[in-house]
Amino acid sequence: MSPAETLELAEFHGDGISSELSAAVHRVAESLPMDVVFHPVDLSLERRSKDAEGSYRDAEEAIRKFGVALKYPTITDLESPNKVLRDRFDFSVIHRPVSSIPGVKTRFDGKVDLHIVRIAVGGTYEDAGRRIGTEAAVSVRVIERRPSFQAAKFAFNLAGKLGCGVTSASKYTIQRATDGLFEEVVEEVAEGYPDIPHNAELFDALLAKLVMGPEDFRIVVTPNEYGDFLSDTACGMIGSIGLGASASYSFDDDGRVTLAMFDPAGGTAPDIAGQGLCNPAAALWAFGMLLEHTGYRAIGAALNDAVRDAIGAGHTTGDLGGSLGTMAFTEAVCDAMASRLTGGGKAKL
Ligand code: ATP
Repeated sequence: MSPAETLELAEFHGDGISSELSAAVHRVAESLPMDVVFHPVDLSLERRSKDAEGSYRDAEEAIRKFGVALKYPTITDLESPNKVLRDRFDFSVIHRPVSSIPGVKTRFDGKVDLHIVRIAVGGTYEDAGRRIGTEAAVSVRVIERRPSFQAAKFAFNLAGKLGCGVTSASKYTIQRATDGLFEEVVEEVAEGYPDIPHNAELFDALLAKLVMGPEDFRIVVTPNEYGDFLSDTACGMIGSIGLGASASYSFDDDGRVTLAMFDPAGGTAPDIAGQGLCNPAAALWAFGMLLEHTGYRAIGAALNDAVRDAIGAGHTTGDLGGSLGTMAFTEAVCDAMASRLTGGGKAKL
C-alpha cells in the first residue's frame, strides 16, 4: 500500500491516564513528516454511563470510516469495552509483538523478538461450560475454521514482510478434534506460501523451547487461550507485563484486514492519573504499529525503535526507575526519532 500524505484515524479516549497517553501520541504525531488527523471518540466511563450505546455507535462509525483506531485504556464497569468493541467490530485475531527492551531488567539474558498471532475468539473463553452437580464441571472448547484461517493468513503475510518462518502451536496430539482442525487450517494456508518455513510445535514444548532459546522463534500463531498464556509468558521474559502494545483485526472473506485497532497493554493507572507521571511507551508503540499497518512502515519502525532508544539511554519514567515525566520522556522519543529519520522527510515514508 502506498501511504497518503495525510493519515486519518479514529482515536478512542478512555479513563485514567488516557488523556496523558493521547497527549504524548499527539506530540509525536506533530513531529512526523506527514499530517495526522485524529477523530476523537469519547469512550470514558462517564460518557458510557450516560449513553453507552451512543458512545459505541460513534466508535463504530469512526473506525468504519477510517479503517483504523488507536484506543486508550478504559475502565471495565458494567461491561468490558474491549469485549463490546471486539464483538461489534468482529475482531478475530490479535497481534502482540513482544521484544526485549534495552535497559529493562529481566531474569535471564535471552533476546526475545517475538510476534504472537492469536485467534481472538473461541477456545474455552466463550464460557459455554456448566457445573454437573457439585463435584464436576464441563466446558466446551470451540475452534472455528474461519478465524483459524484468518490468523494463519495474517501470520504468513507478516512472515513475508519480516523474512522469517511461522510456528503454529497447540496441543494437537491431545485435543485432536479442535487443535487438529486448527493445525489442518494452518497447514492449508502454509501451502500457499511455499517459500515460508512452517513448523508445528506442541504448546508445552514450545514454552520450554522459547524459554531456553527465544532467538529461535519470530512468529507464533496459536488458538485463543494458548495465545493468552504465551503473551504473558513472553512479557514476563522481557521483564514487563504492562509495556507492550497489541493490535486487533477483522477480515474479509479473502483474509484481508478490514478494520484494525491498536492499544497499549496497560490499564487506566488511576493511582497516578492526571499527574504527568505515566509511561507512554506502550501507547507510542501502539501508534507505531498503526503507522506500519497504514503503510508508513519506515516511520512506524523508527518510532518503535526510538522508544527503545530512549529507554535504553536511561530516559525513563518512574515505573522504570527514572525521573522523567510523561512529556519529558516523549520529548526524548521525538529526539531519538529525529535522529533515526535524519535526512528523511517524505522520502522516508
Ligand atoms: P485497571 O482497572 O484499568 O486495569 P489498575 O490500577 O487495576 O487499573 P493498571 O492500570 O494496569 O491496573 O495499573 C497497575 C499498576 O501499574 C499501577 O500502580 C499503575 O500506576 C501502574 N501503571 C499502569 N500503567 C502505567 C503506565 N503507563 N505508566 C506508569 N505506571 C503504570
